Parts: sequence; C-alpha cells; structure tokens
Amino acid sequence: MQAMTQTPARPKLSLITPAYNEEENLPELYVRLRQVLEGLEVDWEWLVVDDHSRDRTFQRAELLALSDPRVAVLRLSRNSGSHAALTCGLHHASGDCAVVLAADLQDPPEVIPQLLEQWSQGQQVVWAVRASRAGESKSTTTFAGLYYKIMRHVVGLKDMPASGADFFLMDRVVLDNFKRLHEENASILALISWMGFRQGYIDYHKAPRKHGRSGWTLQKKLKLVVDSVASFSYLPLRLMSYAGMVMAALGFIYLLVVIFNRLVGTPAAGWTEIVSLILLLNGVQMLVLGILGEYTWRALSAARRRPLYMVEAVAGRLQQAPTPPAGPATGPPTA
Ligand code: UDP
Ligand code: MG
Repeated sequence: MQAMTQTPARPKLSLITPAYNEEENLPELYVRLRQVLEGLEVDWEWLVVDDHSRDRTFQRAELLALSDPRVAVLRLSRNSGSHAALTCGLHHASGDCAVVLAADLQDPPEVIPQLLEQWSQGQQVVWAVRASRAGESKSTTTFAGLYYKIMRHVVGLKDMPASGADFFLMDRVVLDNFKRLHEENASILALISWMGFRQGYIDYHKAPRKHGRSGWTLQKKLKLVVDSVASFSYLPLRLMSYAGMVMAALGFIYLLVVIFNRLVGTPAAGWTEIVSLILLLNGVQMLVLGILGEYTWRALSAARRRPLYMVEAVAGRLQQAPTPPAGPATGPPTA
C-alpha cells in the first residue's frame, strides 16, 4: 500500500523520555543519544518529562536544556505514572515522528536507526520488541509474559507484541490522532496498539537498568492489568452474567432435589449444607460486585474528566506552542 505521507528529506525526530528519579541516567543517555543522532540525516529534539521526581531529575535535564537548545524538559505536578508522562511528551512532540524510550538506558539509543528504517519504509508505528531482557527478575518476566498473554488472547489485542514493548516510534499522523484520545486508567501502549494504522516490529535486546530502581511497584503493575482489561474488554461483565445464570440454575435444581427428598420422606441434612451454600453464593456475589465496581469507578473517573497530567514547570525551548490536546489534559504554562 502507498504511504500516505512521504518521509521528508531531512525529517525531524522527537525523542520522548519519561523520567522518575533518573538524575544519574539522564546525562549518560544524552551523550548516547547525541552519538547516535549525529550520525543520522535527521533534525531532533529531546523532550524529557519529569514525572515529579523526588531527586534532581528536573535540574539535571534543565542543565542539558541550557547547553543544548534541542533539549526541553517538562515537570509534571504530581507523580502520574510513566504512561501519563509519555502521553505528555507525545502531546508536545513537534517532529515528523516521535520515539519513546526510557531514561534508564534499558532501551539502547543505538536501536533508533532501525526504527527509522522501518518508518521510512512506510510503517506508522514501529515497536521495538524485547527479544531478551537482561537483569530482570524471574517474577518480572513471568508477570510480563502473563500480562501480554492476557492482552493478546483474552482482551483480543492480537497485534500486541508477545514479549512486550515499551520502546517505539510513532508517525506524525498517529501522533495527531493520538491527541484525540483522552482516556484515563488505560494502558497507553495497549491504546496505541488498538489505534491500528500500519504497525511494524523490530527486535532488540533490553539492557539492564543502569542506575536507580524500577518505579513499577507490584501495586502499579496490578492496576495496569485491571486497567488494560477493563478499557478494552467487557468479558468480565459477561462472565458475571453467565456465572449468575449458572448459579441460579443450580439453585433451582437443588430446590427440586430438596422438595423431592421431602416428598419421599428424607428431608435435607441440616444447616451445614445451608451455611456452605450461603458462603459460596456470598463469595460469588462479592466477586461479581467487585468486578462491577471496577467498571463503575472507571466510568465515574471518565465522567470527572480530570486531566491525565498537569505541567508544573517547563525548561528549554519547546519548538511548537503546545497544542492543547482535545481531551482533558492541560497544556503547560510558558517557561
Ligand atoms: N517512570 C515514570 N513514572 C513512574 C515510573 C517510571 O515516568 O512513576 C519512567 C522511568 O523513569 C523510566 C520509564 O518510566 O524512564 C520506565 O520505568 P522503569 O524503568 O521504572 O520500568 P521498568 O523498566 O521496570 O518496566
Ligand atoms: Mg526500566
């Protein structure tokens, strides 16, 4: 199929890096980015989104921005999670395409030329898929494997890479359409996969984290799983209805048995049976209410239309007056 937009002769690339407590990693990442990008026929900007770090991430990035006008930094008003931070970066990207990569040097900048190569061949989203993950614990890789299985086979996002990806390129057309989405409590990566367009893949080896600790706690990971399922699938709700129907049918059959036993002179065996049934049914009801609750609070949260992120401070020159996204996310104040 013919590409809708031709790649410009000297395209501009926006690099987006969400950063939470990454003061030690940013200077090294900057050096590596420069080494890679200076060998390419591209103009570039690097947007660091400081997700309200508790260390000196903002000041470090600001120093880089002072010495290099291609670097800019936005600080979010609260720790909003890497998906909100990268969304903020994507909303402010002015390039012909954008590449999202983590601050901790796990996503090697040396892979960027391969992403650009796929883009120049007409792909509009290019995922760098983790062929391997050095230095990750068994529990992390097992959890990630399970998550991507659920997303592909239960939720039905078949195009999500099986071994996971959080390093990717997005064409300007996708960036512009991305601004029209304004979902809270959803996995941004799953949303991008859901958006369609022409999506391509390359493999890369995810490096171990250089400095600092992963900001993904078990609690954040669990929320991501429920968010990802609830924003793309009604299957849990449907299963609740089926479970309800099966329970009702079993209850009815049991009632017939009790009546029959009574008529033939052997009444039901007493209250142990009743208590276990009550416990079982109550358990199922609580579970069902919980699932219903997960969808209900998400609906309430969407109705509140709180911004996904708020920008507290900006440093460096943002090339383009940021277009306020169509959704509830707020644009930044000027520097
Ligand atoms: N991150 C963020 N906000 C958070 C947690 C993480 O912006 O609340 C950033 C982090 O600085 C890094 C990227 O998101 O650049 C990926 O996070 P991390 O390395 O902690 O995740 P992992 O590699 O363990 O999946
Ligand atoms: Mg990491």
